[in-house]
Amino acid sequence: MVESEAQVMGEGAAGHATRWRAQGWWPFRKRSAKIRNPAEMRKWIAIWAIVTGLLIGFFDIPRPLDDGFQLVRDLARPHQYDGKTVIVAIDDRSLTELGVRDPLRSDDARLLDKLFEHGANRVVFDRAYADPSALAEDRKLLDALARHKGHVFIGSTPVMNFGFTSSQQLLTHPRFLGSAPMVSIMGYQGPFGFSWRLPTSSEIQGKQRPSISATLAGIDRVGAMYRPDLSIKPSDVPVYSYIDVINGRLSSERFAGKDVVVATANLFSPDRFRMPFVGLVLGSQLHAIGAQTLRERFPIDLGFLPSLLIAALFIWSQSRVRRPLRRHALGIAAILVVAPFALDLASIRVDVTAALVCLLIGWIRLRNLARTTYRGETALLRIEQLHSSRNAASCDVIALKIRNFATISAILSPREIERLLEKLQDRLHAAETKGQFAFDKDTFVWLRDKLPADEREDHLRGLHALFRTSIAVGTHMSDVAVAIGLDANYAQPLRERIEGAIQTAEDAAHNGSLFMIGEDTDDEDRAWRLGFFTELNAAIENGDLDILFQPKINLATGMIVGAEALLRWDHPTRGQIDPARIIQFAEEHNRIDTITRFVLDRALTEARKAIACNPAFKVAVNISALDLRDFGFAREIRDFLTQYDFPPGNLILEITETAPIENDRVAAALLAELKQMGLSLSVDDFGTGHASLHYLRQIPSDEVKIDRSFVSGMMESPEDRTLVRTAIEMIHSLGRVAVAEGVETAAVANLLREMGCDKAQGYYFARAMPMNELLPKLDAGVLAA
Ligand code: C2E
Ligand code: CA
Ligand code: CA
Repeated sequence: MVESEAQVMGEGAAGHATRWRAQGWWPFRKRSAKIRNPAEMRKWIAIWAIVTGLLIGFFDIPRPLDDGFQLVRDLARPHQYDGKTVIVAIDDRSLTELGVRDPLRSDDARLLDKLFEHGANRVVFDRAYADPSALAEDRKLLDALARHKGHVFIGSTPVMNFGFTSSQQLLTHPRFLGSAPMVSIMGYQGPFGFSWRLPTSSEIQGKQRPSISATLAGIDRVGAMYRPDLSIKPSDVPVYSYIDVINGRLSSERFAGKDVVVATANLFSPDRFRMPFVGLVLGSQLHAIGAQTLRERFPIDLGFLPSLLIAALFIWSQSRVRRPLRRHALGIAAILVVAPFALDLASIRVDVTAALVCLLIGWIRLRNLARTTYRGETALLRIEQLHSSRNAASCDVIALKIRNFATISAILSPREIERLLEKLQDRLHAAETKGQFAFDKDTFVWLRDKLPADEREDHLRGLHALFRTSIAVGTHMSDVAVAIGLDANYAQPLRERIEGAIQTAEDAAHNGSLFMIGEDTDDEDRAWRLGFFTELNAAIENGDLDILFQPKINLATGMIVGAEALLRWDHPTRGQIDPARIIQFAEEHNRIDTITRFVLDRALTEARKAIACNPAFKVAVNISALDLRDFGFAREIRDFLTQYDFPPGNLILEITETAPIENDRVAAALLAELKQMGLSLSVDDFGTGHASLHYLRQIPSDEVKIDRSFVSGMMESPEDRTLVRTAIEMIHSLGRVAVAEGVETAAVANLLREMGCDKAQGYYFARAMPMNELLPKLDAGVLAA
């Protein structure tokens, strides 16, 4: 007889799982934990994964999975049954023919005589004879037992405790006790019937009694458990009918030299089991298979610890690197899945689920951490990681902007870009040994110990010098143009300082400086920021706000083909205010729409005068990326055009801040809508910021303006020259018009013309001027040749 403990085990497992969850130990719950130090976090993740593996392994929670996997492996390598044990089944036919519900003891006596007559080796009753029957009947059996003494064994079960329940013990009745050795008939079924475990012996009435299988295999080992090898098919163990044996219907060769297990196998017998993938199995067949298993080699069951050790070592090693490698994790997982097949061949059993769970939890969490911490495949931090990293008052924040990042990324593949960033980081490491570098868009940012004020400039100059030589990535040699910003506003919160440093680097790039230092913003400046909105409205009302027009020239003909509207604010006390600053403030205060509306109003009104002179004249208006966040902007433009009766073909919208557009559906739809209305789009400041080739393709622009930071330095810098030439080719290859801004000398204008640039704009031709100054020049036609 074999009992099932499946239910008990299942309950146990569920119980533990709920307890963990209630205590908030559950590893998937700890999302909100603030990431401080990635290395520390990684260590905790590894510990977590390993402890989880240990706990679930210790409480045997993945038992069904491990057993199912074991069964699949067993079925995958069929193994021959050795035929040394056969079953005699007290089946329904026997009982019907005998006309009883249980064979009489005299029938059992006849059976024994018959079997030994056939030459059977030993006979084991897989039943207990727990109750006495009629004395005469029992006598006959006792006589038969005496005749075959030493060759017959009778089963019993130990008392079993499964925590709360204990099953009824089946014990041989004292009447038969001395007549045949007692054997244990216990076996344990795993949850869902995926597996079996058999003992080599059980303690019954204070003594260790060998199990059926150990007896048959002649194994003398106390209290060990093993799994019968289910690669031997239970159905290969022959089963003969009890009635056929006692009626002599079977030939002797079926029993000669064999061991026989006599077992009940009728419909009401509790000793029949269904196993997934295997089918109906008799307990006695399992004992027979167990006997063969023991005869061949005692199976070694290593449990979950060895595989967990491998997973734990791996996760631990991965927690020491910044980026876990998927290939390695897959490799370890593959080893954990494949190795058990090989070990099975040596009768070594291992459980791998706990290890796989440890691996999976550890790896997923390490990878997620890496994802939120680092950029792409590089070991560069994300900017947000810097926010919580240090005491802002005691450090300098440095931002290093790659001015030509867009151009470089257009040429390199994403992999090569990552390689390049790694190499750049290596260079930075030379000067900033302790730096933890973050990267965003086109800018490196890091914190460093506060520099003495008189050393700052030297340090920044040194940093800049690091990038004088070009960097090889793959087959490309990349010239990296950088501009550096240092934020020294020690009293500000770190988050603002980081943004400040980025902005300062941006300003340095714009001014064509190697570096700039953002000093403490004074109180007056802060007050001005706060009062900005009121001041802006007042300026519009007082007419302090104005726009000027800077001509755009057709390089081939030298004709003025249009003009860009540029904002001017002549402040009564502050004087001329840098328009870039106005725009920045307005964006910060969410007031950009006020400015855009003001500029459109003035530009359209004024431009109509120019169109009257030259119907092809196009006016260009700068719009902010913030304008593109709201689909209503398209309607507003349409209303403007109708209201001013302005031909859409004469309006160009220049778009600068480009990053959000790429991912933004509203912006994309909006741009398409604007385009449909018949006006032209222009990508401004190409080469700075985030305008990549891919991005250019996404924006349906008609023209692209190469940033003035490349154009103005063209004569001095061969690198800038190459970049401008490449940009022009790229713009043309996309079928767009190339415009160069910041043309300050005739030499640059000539060079651009040679390079095939279509249009140009700059101080060499004209500064921004009021419309009434521009109009006569339109009549004159040529501005400069
Ligand atoms: P932008 O769109 O790149 O405008 C061109 C800037 O380059 C103008 O600076 C112009 O005066 C300057 N510039 C023109 N030719 C040369 C040259 O040969 N050399 C040099 N070094 N600079 C030249 P400005 O007027 O100071 O405007 C700065 C930025 O402010 C503009 O850059 C634009 O982004 C923004 N901006 C100006 N007006 C508006 C506006 O009405 N709306 C919006 N949204 N932004 C505006
Ligand atoms: Ca512009
Ligand atoms: Ca520009």
